[in-house]
Amino acid sequence: MSSNNDEKHVKVLVLGAGPAGLSAALYAARAELEPVVLTGMQLGGQAALTNTIENYPGFPTGVGGAELGELFQKQAENFGAKVEFDLANEVDLSQRPFKVTTDNGVYKADTLILSTGANPTHLNVPGEVELTGRGVSYCATCDGWFFKEKKVVIVGGGDSALEEGLFITRYASSVTVIHRRDEFRASPVLQKRAKEHPKMNFIYDTVVTEVVGTGKVETLKLKNVKTGAESTFDTDGLFIFIGHIPNTQMFKGQLDMSDLGYVIVNDKMETNVAGVYAAGEIADPHFRQVITSAGMGAAAAIQATRFLEAESEHGLERSGASS
Ligand code: NAP
Repeated sequence: MSSNNDEKHVKVLVLGAGPAGLSAALYAARAELEPVVLTGMQLGGQAALTNTIENYPGFPTGVGGAELGELFQKQAENFGAKVEFDLANEVDLSQRPFKVTTDNGVYKADTLILSTGANPTHLNVPGEVELTGRGVSYCATCDGWFFKEKKVVIVGGGDSALEEGLFITRYASSVTVIHRRDEFRASPVLQKRAKEHPKMNFIYDTVVTEVVGTGKVETLKLKNVKTGAESTFDTDGLFIFIGHIPNTQMFKGQLDMSDLGYVIVNDKMETNVAGVYAAGEIADPHFRQVITSAGMGAAAAIQATRFLEAESEHGLERSGASS
């Protein structure tokens, strides 16, 4: 890494320190490219907020999300990656080296690996924003503990809803899952576990239309989507697990994206800008697993390595993602 005042020049800059970013850093470090990872706000990514990860191979009895993130980081650092607690605010992809302005300075990067992940989707109903942190939450690992012997509602019907709901049964007296359809999209194993759990209850074909409470969540207004019938449901907590929005705002207008805002990559993790790669949930609306994100990160770093090698050997001017 070379430095000019506050400006640092790196061969590989990784934005985001979840499974994708840290795996990319591991591979780039082992290729002796001295990658720098900017953690952003969330070291370990969303996986770090997951209590136990049971489907990452190599951990037959599961592993804590935060612990796995730390192991990823340590392994990357062992090979020379630098992890900086810094936040990228602006990216200029119009010329190489790419310019990334952060809270602490400016990076010039020969290649960029974007792995800024995704954030939880909001319900967008009255009361949700006002009561966030006062009973409304998007993270069971962070907030489950506050609901000891309390009533909790979960909204959603995917793996996250049931997995996090099951986790909250450790604390809560009851966990009621409210889902907008009459069947879950969650995996059969989680459905079975949730339906057999004595503390878990289910309300189908129903949406939350308002979160009500003075200073804290007290009641939810509900609507049955089939009959139109309206009702209320008293609860102490509301956990919302209805999907994610990719963190791609910073790249809008510079990278090709899908209608949902995911960065479009080819099978080599290349974006439409040569030298810029994307990996993990920023580019993955389908799988969103620790293992798939890690795999995408590794692939992006391998491709960045090949790109830099080709450039230094042949001085190749490459363009486009299809090369
Ligand atoms: P998801 O699979 O997209 O499920 C989102 C759920 O929220 C769906 O049931 C959806 O209903 C519901 N929903 C969406 N918008 C809603 C709204 N406005 N109001 C009410 N309900 C709404 O999201 P996820 O559960 O976060 O999972 C994301 C990915 O991560 C999936 O691929 C999942 O397999 C994976 N994941 C895996 C594990 C694991 O393997 N242990 C754990 C967590 C997540 P509909 O079903 O009607 O669309």
